[in-house]
Amino acid sequence: LINRISGILVVIVILFFSIFDIQAQKLSDEKLKYYNQIADEIISSSLNERKGYELLRELCEIGPRLSGSENSLKAISWAENKMKDAGFDSVWLQPVMVPHWERGDVEKAVIIESKYFTGKELNIAALGGSIATPPNGITAEVIEIRSFEELKEQSENVKGKIVFFSQPFDQSFVNTFSGYSNAVKKRSEGAIEASKHGAVGVIVRSITTKFDNQPHVGGMRYSDTIPKIPSVAAGYLDSDFLSEAIKKEPGLKINLKLNCQTFPDAQSYNVIADLKGTEKPDEIVIVSGHLDSWDLGCGAHDDGGGCIQAFEVLDLLKRLDIKTKRTIRCIFYINEENGVRGGIEYAKYAENSSEIHLAAIESDRGVFTPRGFTVDADSSIIEKMQPWLPVLNKAQINHIIKGYGGVDIYYLRDNVKAKIGYEPDAQRYFDLHHSANDVFEEVHPREMQLGTAAITLLTLLLSEEGL
Ligand SMILES: [Zn+2]
Repeated sequence: LINRISGILVVIVILFFSIFDIQAQKLSDEKLKYYNQIADEIISSSLNERKGYELLRELCEIGPRLSGSENSLKAISWAENKMKDAGFDSVWLQPVMVPHWERGDVEKAVIIESKYFTGKELNIAALGGSIATPPNGITAEVIEIRSFEELKEQSENVKGKIVFFSQPFDQSFVNTFSGYSNAVKKRSEGAIEASKHGAVGVIVRSITTKFDNQPHVGGMRYSDTIPKIPSVAAGYLDSDFLSEAIKKEPGLKINLKLNCQTFPDAQSYNVIADLKGTEKPDEIVIVSGHLDSWDLGCGAHDDGGGCIQAFEVLDLLKRLDIKTKRTIRCIFYINEENGVRGGIEYAKYAENSSEIHLAAIESDRGVFTPRGFTVDADSSIIEKMQPWLPVLNKAQINHIIKGYGGVDIYYLRDNVKAKIGYEPDAQRYFDLHHSANDVFEEVHPREMQLGTAAITLLTLLLSEEGL
């Protein structure tokens, strides 16, 4: 009995301390009232004025912004001017060299010498970084392969052929990013793996949740020790077609022509602006996105929208005259898509700077309806953020959970306490991702602006409450 009583006592003591602990972390009624009032102001200004949405329209009018392109430099100077016009503090360009690859104007995959399908052209686009074909293209049999395991099993049959990686995006995941990361290796590593077995080219079924015929591109890699082979993405419908055609006519041949080209690295820049903190100006909260995009569409969701949200966090604070204790820094990183040079360059700066980087937020999963934030940090830090949820709920943020921060902020590593990813609803993101579908018209102003308000609220809480 004594054992039982002491056991119960231990439980009571633990319960007492855990309740006490939670209460100690809670925002005081006074603070909660203050934040709730400010949240209403931020949300209504963001939804009513749609300033970011209109800025995104302007940015998208410049066109696609692939690293190293003339357009990317236009967008950089546009962004710099907008930050200066907005009256932000210390607007500056951080120089960084970036890869420079151009798609060219020849992209053709045509079925030839076929009993049934001669002349059928597939809707394809070169993957970013691919080498060109010779001017007359490469002509080879196509072999359909679903997985890297199957590639190994079929090694004997792959030599001299074009490998068609046909496995579709797995739609069974609720989180579309899981479906994506499951499939993306065929795109990024497919050329290396296929070339190991003697393939002469790669066609990858577009990694998309949409059953249309737009090629969805993205970065791909080569190895210095394995022969480089041209690599393209095919539209989903034409991938279905190709799969059926090969079944009907094994040994089907394709002529593939590309004239894309890699140039020497080009000069580029991250675009950076601050809103100086009033009490701790040397402590920094970053809000960010990446300014570069793929060259199809105009990167409205990926990641023009994310950049503009970061911009408007500063703008909302400024236009509502909300002073923050810590400095809020907006960063438009360059070159997330095919090198992350901008993120790496800023991380170097952060490592050598006397400033303290408290937290970094990145918005790079589309600008859809807010859902939550995912945090790459110690559990104790994520725990500290939980009492902020009642305020963030106002902008439909339902959770702050452990997870990935973002590609550009990843390299800040231990130089920042928390790397935080903005998590909007992602059901439609991969309909658009890295394709001609990613245009301004696909952005919904209320969804984007509510997300902006959510990120602004988190930024404010980080600045005022610390971690
Ligand atoms: Zn992105």
